[in-house]
Amino acid sequence: MFSKRLLSLTRAYRARFSLSIFFGWLGGALTILQAWFLAKLVNDVFLEHRTISQLDALLPMLLAVMVLKAVAAFLAEYTANQLSIEIRSGLRERLMQKITRLGPVYAGAERTGEISMTALDGIESLDAYFSQYLPQLALSASIPVTILLLVFPIDLLTGVVFVLTAPLIPFFMIMIGRYGETLTTRQYSSLSTLSAHFFDVLQGLTTLKVFGRSKKQTEVISEISDQYREVTMKVLRVTFISSLALELLATLSTAIVAVEIGLRLLYARMEFQPAFFILIIAPEFYFPLRQLGLKFHAGMTGVNAAVRVWEILDQPEPPPSPEKDIHATLAPSSGSVIWLKDVHYDYPGRESFQLRSINVELRYGMVTALVGKTGSGKSTIFNLLLRFAQPNTGIILLNDTPIDSIPVEQWRRWIAYVPQNPTLYYGSIKENLLFADPSASTRQIEIACQNSGLLPFIQSLPNGIETIVGERGSRLSGGQAQRLALARAFLKDAPILLLDEPSSNLDPQLEADLTSSVKQMAKQKIVVLIAHSVKTALAADRIYVLDQGQVSQFGSPAELRAMPGLFAQLVSGQPSEASG
Ligand code: ATP
Ligand code: MG
Repeated sequence: MFSKRLLSLTRAYRARFSLSIFFGWLGGALTILQAWFLAKLVNDVFLEHRTISQLDALLPMLLAVMVLKAVAAFLAEYTANQLSIEIRSGLRERLMQKITRLGPVYAGAERTGEISMTALDGIESLDAYFSQYLPQLALSASIPVTILLLVFPIDLLTGVVFVLTAPLIPFFMIMIGRYGETLTTRQYSSLSTLSAHFFDVLQGLTTLKVFGRSKKQTEVISEISDQYREVTMKVLRVTFISSLALELLATLSTAIVAVEIGLRLLYARMEFQPAFFILIIAPEFYFPLRQLGLKFHAGMTGVNAAVRVWEILDQPEPPPSPEKDIHATLAPSSGSVIWLKDVHYDYPGRESFQLRSINVELRYGMVTALVGKTGSGKSTIFNLLLRFAQPNTGIILLNDTPIDSIPVEQWRRWIAYVPQNPTLYYGSIKENLLFADPSASTRQIEIACQNSGLLPFIQSLPNGIETIVGERGSRLSGGQAQRLALARAFLKDAPILLLDEPSSNLDPQLEADLTSSVKQMAKQKIVVLIAHSVKTALAADRIYVLDQGQVSQFGSPAELRAMPGLFAQLVSGQPSEASG
């Protein structure tokens, strides 16, 4: 429960954290003062029969203490909440940066719903830990100690009762907390599963409907919800039982003090004013400890969430890319070549597939096509070029410079990329396009749309380029979404253009148009395209044929056609081989 690593997050805010605890303590100290004034007031009025005019400034002082107490409470809450907000947003930022650095190869292997749940709800639930539990932990130590220091000189016996009873509360709290811990862990993990599942269902609604699985999935969700409900009820039960136990302990302890004081008052062994003071203050002694018990469970959820956050933050990262370009590499230009030299790569945890001895040469001014059966490693080569993955052995060079000595941001600025499943965001077509280059002019947008064949479609829309497309392009046809993604890549006008099956959703005419505009653009670029159709591949200047992670053939289309082998088979029309 006392997570050192969570605590270390407050280190950067030590001053403010201390301030928040100080205000909390001040509130406690003012409560003691208030009790003192009250005891004195009652003593003066009832026992010494003083009138209002004889009370000196007692009443206004009591009032002032009450007001100050409210101010202290407010400031304590305020600073604690500010602190918690800052820690959480800092942590969320770190998490997102980490996920970004880990890249799509990591994120793709995780459940999106679960990650977003960790980043949002999980970190949110740390609020209770930082704004309530931690300050309370400090208060539950400092306030009772302050009270003890005051009470011991006044009345030894009460001091002893306090010292003997106080540890019972944390003791029981820890006992119950131990049991609650496993439950909250289960509660958190079942909420994660629920989120992840819900996300999957939302994303795959079409698939589920078509396969008639939506009912089944709804059942699964309600099953997980049930589990979640059950474990939540158990957690609540523990919480209630523990607060019952703590209340009971606190009340009993207060009662012991009351009896012990009452008896001595009765036999005139004690003055009224200190006795009354101690009576008022006794509940305040146990109050912070009881509060701690209540906040313990809220804080617990945060600790569970943190475990998952640390797990992500501790993922090993690809080696950092240099901050500054040591060789001050120039952007690819006429004569530039990207070489993949003897590159080996396998996905972590996936033994069945490896890229082996990949030697590929990508020249400026040329269209290079990668072809091969599905799963042969074409997109994986793009992952390497995009530096989402690092070769295990071998090297990728831009002319003479290893690309991993170029800062990754700079490297990616040189690349325009259309993935196999392009991502579009909720927003207008224009917003989706400007993603590539926020400063693009209308003319540039028009050219990009022209080249990708999107223009006629935009012109046919009543709202034109301002038309809203749904999330992931859900309001567009597959071909339209693909053309939009192409236009976006063209708009970026980067010297390296990577197209992963750019024409898979286009009709033959559009495909031919696209091929010719890509060829046109390739005069001033390094263009690599993964081709699923023989026609597109044949239009390239150079072709690499991949087979099970290896380059099995390469050459110009004419050379390859003449050669017996995989490519000749593709051309002669064995559609099963041409899939991609
Ligand atoms: P397609 O033509 O179907 O797009 P491809 O040639 O692009 O196929 P890749 O995407 O490169 O194939 O995948 C090559 C192999 O690597 C496949 O066996 C695939 O299952 C595996 N693979 C791809 N991405 C990952 C990943 N993120 N983690 C683990 N394995 C992966
Ligand atoms: Mg692919």
